[in-house]
Amino acid sequence: MIYFDNAATTAPLEEALSFYLKAVKDFPGNSSSTHGLGRQADRELEKARASILESFGLAKTHSLIFNSGATEGNNLAIKGIAHFYKNRGKKLITSSVEHPSVTNAFKELEKEGFEVVYLPVTEEGKVDPSSLEKALDKDTILVSIMGVNNETGAVNDLSALADLTHKFPKAFFHSDLTQAIGKVKVPYSKLDLFTYSSHKIGGLRGDGALIYLNKIKFAPLNDGGGQEYGFRSGTVNVPAVMTQAYVIKEALKGYESNLKHVKEISEYLRQNLNIPSEIRFNSPKEASPYVLNFSLINKKASVVLEALSEKGIYVSSVSACNSKGEPISEVLTAMGKSEGDARNSIRLSFSKRNTLEEAETFVKAFKEVLEGVINR
Ligand code: PMP
Repeated sequence: MIYFDNAATTAPLEEALSFYLKAVKDFPGNSSSTHGLGRQADRELEKARASILESFGLAKTHSLIFNSGATEGNNLAIKGIAHFYKNRGKKLITSSVEHPSVTNAFKELEKEGFEVVYLPVTEEGKVDPSSLEKALDKDTILVSIMGVNNETGAVNDLSALADLTHKFPKAFFHSDLTQAIGKVKVPYSKLDLFTYSSHKIGGLRGDGALIYLNKIKFAPLNDGGGQEYGFRSGTVNVPAVMTQAYVIKEALKGYESNLKHVKEISEYLRQNLNIPSEIRFNSPKEASPYVLNFSLINKKASVVLEALSEKGIYVSSVSACNSKGEPISEVLTAMGKSEGDARNSIRLSFSKRNTLEEAETFVKAFKEVLEGVINR
């Protein structure tokens, strides 16, 4: 089996699973219970929270809400801020290539009367800071722009984007860092808020966090027992967040060596898949090497994906549908790619556990598949 779909989800690290199992057994109490077992679980919860903030270098300035992952974190960051600070202004800014958990949250707010600006992206799929500069004004209360794009690996200049936002004191800068943590350099201390899911870095699915400046408040999405400072009710999965603290530390510690390893795989594939009659690369050269996206010039991506899957090779194509219900990449469309290219893209995405040998096997298998599939 060759698994090149790590941007969708990455198998948990063996050590993370052992850590999780032990924590489940050792800390059976509900962290909200006031008896001994509850207090013990609560201590572990607070240790995990402190450890993660410490890992990001944000122990003094930021707070953390544990949740089910980036979808929930993005919704709380965006709707929670818009609703809580609505009296300060009605303008919200995002990009046109965000994950649906961001884009659709903004679309809901638009229906409520907020003004939302969807910034365009360059040919490389990045937000040009000058377009943010033009859109910002005194009515802006939130800017949300992702760190790394999940389809192309395009990396945004978060430092420049945050600096521009902070010229307007009422505006907060949020970033969806789901594909960025442990994979690219991130100016964490400049971000007012950010979100992520643990399962993209070897943690558990259904687990993540929203990290935010201490002073920020949210209108909660759910009513309930008031856990997580009243911003995210529900029993916290203490063993999962203990595991999260572990994988975050590992991901940040392993950043340089993992990057070097994945870069080798990515560059090998870029060179050896460079068949100009069959492929056009969509990921810019300076993209995160964890993602390599290309379009098939003559073949249907869905057919190639299925043929690869039959050989035990797992990659991704776009799943989002346009208004007619047809699958097309909105990200590639926003980058100015043709309709054919936007309908027939393949995304390879890697983890530190992939190998160069897998890349070699992939190239051979991929060429065989291309030969066996009729042109579209
Ligand atoms: N944002 C980005 C950039 C993502 O890649 C994903 C996962 N594909 C999410 C948000 C949502 O993460 P989850 O499904 O874990 O909530």
